[in-house]
Amino acid sequence: MKDCKATALDGQEVYLKGPEIETLRGKLRGRLITAEDPDYDETRRVFNALIDRRPALIIQPGNTADVVRAVDLACEKGLLLTVRGGGHSVAGHAVADGAVMVDFSALKAMDVDPEARTVRAWPGVRLGEFDARTQDFGLATTLGTVSDTGISGLTLGGGIGWLMRKYGLACDNLLAAEVVTADGQVRRASDTENPDLFWAIRGAGHNFGVVTELTYRLHPVGPMVFGGLILYPLSQARQILRAYRDYAVGMPDEFNAFAACLTSPEGVPVVGIGVCHCGPVDEGRRLAEPLGRFMRPLMDMTGPMPYVQVQRMIDDAAPFGARHYWKSSVIGDLSDGAIDVLAELCGRFSSPRSIVLIQPLGGAVSRVGPEATAFAHRSGFLVSIIGMWLEGPADEHKSWVREVYRGLAPFSTGGAYVNDEADSGEGAARTAYGPNYERLARLKAKYDPDNLFRVNLNIRPWA
Ligand SMILES: Cc1cc2nc3c(=O)[nH]c(=O)nc-3n(C[C@H](O)[C@H](O)[C@H](O)COP(=O)(O)OP(=O)(O)OC[C@H]3O[C@@H](n4cnc5c(N)ncnc54)[C@H](O)[C@@H]3O)c2cc1C
Repeated sequence: MKDCKATALDGQEVYLKGPEIETLRGKLRGRLITAEDPDYDETRRVFNALIDRRPALIIQPGNTADVVRAVDLACEKGLLLTVRGGGHSVAGHAVADGAVMVDFSALKAMDVDPEARTVRAWPGVRLGEFDARTQDFGLATTLGTVSDTGISGLTLGGGIGWLMRKYGLACDNLLAAEVVTADGQVRRASDTENPDLFWAIRGAGHNFGVVTELTYRLHPVGPMVFGGLILYPLSQARQILRAYRDYAVGMPDEFNAFAACLTSPEGVPVVGIGVCHCGPVDEGRRLAEPLGRFMRPLMDMTGPMPYVQVQRMIDDAAPFGARHYWKSSVIGDLSDGAIDVLAELCGRFSSPRSIVLIQPLGGAVSRVGPEATAFAHRSGFLVSIIGMWLEGPADEHKSWVREVYRGLAPFSTGGAYVNDEADSGEGAARTAYGPNYERLARLKAKYDPDNLFRVNLNIRPWA
């Protein structure tokens, strides 16, 4: 095995000797992959095709002890460390040049307790795998809306999804976690064990350690629910979005509906209304009816369907390997002014793949206080500005995303969603963590004083 060039925390180059890499390999239950291995390129690939980074070592842990070894190595040598759950971070935080990358993609075990309505899951589980397993018992919890996303990155940043208005965010359903912190200790985090760490990992978890196990609360859902999509012409965006807003403010918690400006697979610019009702199917049908009558829809694809199908229904809109640049803004109200901005700027998407997604928070999400967990922005509407294109440079698409972001600024509460942020820097971090930033910085100083976990929307340890 050849020596291997790595990146230190201060950005300097460091060489790892071939024999010491072999010694580490021999100690691991899981795998160690370097650029000499045939699957190195496949393993370092992440969702956003703009990201092309070459880690020094990829450790695919077989157990928690392997994670401790990876953290110890990074600490002893002062190396950059990254963690990959499902690899969907559009900022590419799962991978960095010259880093030690802990890659959970092979660790997918799940243990459902149907009596207690809980599940313990390893961090490599994807949303679709999680839903399929828990639905075997007629159970589910809030997760995101694209089935290939990883549960760990999503939950540790908050976790927005269909069930949130009834059951809270994914992180609100986290009961406990096992975390390897920067000192190499394996800690439990829950309401009763290291509660300050537990507070921090529910919304800012990418900053505080490597989470090796997540335990969630589950709820009876489905297996059949009422869901689907209704499409209207984007040319009527003002009228549709106003009607959607008026409807959304009165929705019961069981019912969730998002609005999205996008281009259909046939190339038609549309406003899509996505629907999921997690209560009785007939009640969902009744509640969804007004959404199909804003005007004559281009298409109404709602109906009874398995919950797992609702969880996959927009998968095709976000294929692995496209290029991405995202920002988000939390707006207090979907006012006429905000709608005018969206209608105007979505009329000139920089790419037919781009999407503006509007999701109502509220319900159970806003019954948890903004400072009760690290996830602060819990009311109003989350607007995700998704720049997506298949080929070519990023400039034009980034400009469009930023233009929408700036256009929404007068309506913003000043908040954003950490998991939708492609930019880095303290300004972006303060926006995402909002009123919790300073408490998080103090906890960062306690649990990660040297900022080992820095490849994320980073919180600087309180000096
Ligand atoms: C197509 C698409 C659809 C999406 N839909 C939704 C949605 O519906 N709802 C929503 O809330 N979000 C959504 N997101 C955003 C998503 O939550 C983030 O991209 C999230 O980071 C994905 O987690 P991951 O594990 O796949 O990502 P990764 O890139 O693997 O990780 C993301 C971050 O989490 C950290 N991390 C991952 N695992 C661990 C761990 N075990 N311990 C410590 N840190 C860890 C990483 O270091 C990194 O900083 C979507 C993203 C995409 C690309």
